[in-house]
Amino acid sequence: MSGRYPDNKRDNVRVLTVIGNRPQFIKAAAVSGPLRDVADEVLVHTGQHYDDALSKIFFDELGLPRPEHRLELGGGSNTSQTSRMLAALEPLLAREQPAMVLVYGDTNSTLAGALAAAQARIPVAHVEAGMRSYDRTMPEELNRVLTDHTSDLLLCSSEAPAEILRGERVMGEVEVVGDVMVDVAQLLGPRAAARTEVLERYGVASGEYVIATAHRAGNVDDPARLERLAALFEAVPYPVVLPLHPRTGARLEAAGLRGRVENGRVVLAPPLGYLDFTALLHHARAVLTDSGGVQKEAYLAGVPCVTMRPVTEWVETVEAGWNVLVDLDAGAAIAALERTPPAERPALYGDGRAGERVVAAIARRMGA
Ligand code: UDP
Repeated sequence: MSGRYPDNKRDNVRVLTVIGNRPQFIKAAAVSGPLRDVADEVLVHTGQHYDDALSKIFFDELGLPRPEHRLELGGGSNTSQTSRMLAALEPLLAREQPAMVLVYGDTNSTLAGALAAAQARIPVAHVEAGMRSYDRTMPEELNRVLTDHTSDLLLCSSEAPAEILRGERVMGEVEVVGDVMVDVAQLLGPRAAARTEVLERYGVASGEYVIATAHRAGNVDDPARLERLAALFEAVPYPVVLPLHPRTGARLEAAGLRGRVENGRVVLAPPLGYLDFTALLHHARAVLTDSGGVQKEAYLAGVPCVTMRPVTEWVETVEAGWNVLVDLDAGAAIAALERTPPAERPALYGDGRAGERVVAAIARRMGA
């Protein structure tokens, strides 16, 4: 991220990092730099996100090193994708012989990396461990729970997930390191906020529009819920900028609903790079999202968040009064968008040095 990635030194201990989708590129950007100071990192991109707008731009903008291995395993159902990843990772781990495997978050790439490593008896470190929505219909929830119970080093964003893991009696060592997305937000937030030309591009004025994202399977794969999502966007009484995730775009097209969403007030954009998205986030009057990471980034930027899910794993943002869960209830969403945020905004997710703590924990564990 800082543009200082020392060459891997082949005599160092080897850590194999498995990443595959947009939020994982952002999280890894906080860790790869300090990790490469103490270890030989082998970066594996599973190809879960293969679209340039969801992948390449993040490597360019955040200075993430080029992956040593690209598996190109996107597409298919969750089960098929995870099983193809497992099949590809087994021989790769046998060849690379890492001392540890590092995974992030809650995707199929996370679970496949953790399980393939555990089967090969390679210790696993999980960043963003212990997050729970307790909604087992979410593919991400299954990935989180299974990854945590397979991991040796469980690195948590805050005290709440650490408590959850202790309650679940996980086998691995639990440590609170802070949130790695805070590191990236602190480093790049001010630079991003200065990019006001992106507001002009989408015809919106600072403080007067809503920035939105929507892509959760639970909201876009079920036709009835997709229709409610479209109706919610139709009802929002403010200008909205909605960078459209390819999955959502495809579902809206197939259902003939794209026209209902793209009305005079809602401007559709392609998926944006981190800097453009963060610029739009910083200048928005509110955020409307079903993303995990965006709920947290809204809090960090001091922008009220309205979350189109019935539950969240980022409970602290709700308890602090900055985030309201509305599921797909348009009336509740409009009421929540009109709320005034609280005066207080305590630091919930660390001090922007989580990446260093992740690396220190890994180094300690490996005796490096
Ligand atoms: N993001 C981005 N461009 C966009 C929308 C989101 O760079 O058009 C970033 C956002 O800042 C956050 C991350 O993508 O860091 C969130 O990813 P996503 O919503 O895909 O995943 P989730 O957090 O829900 O797993």
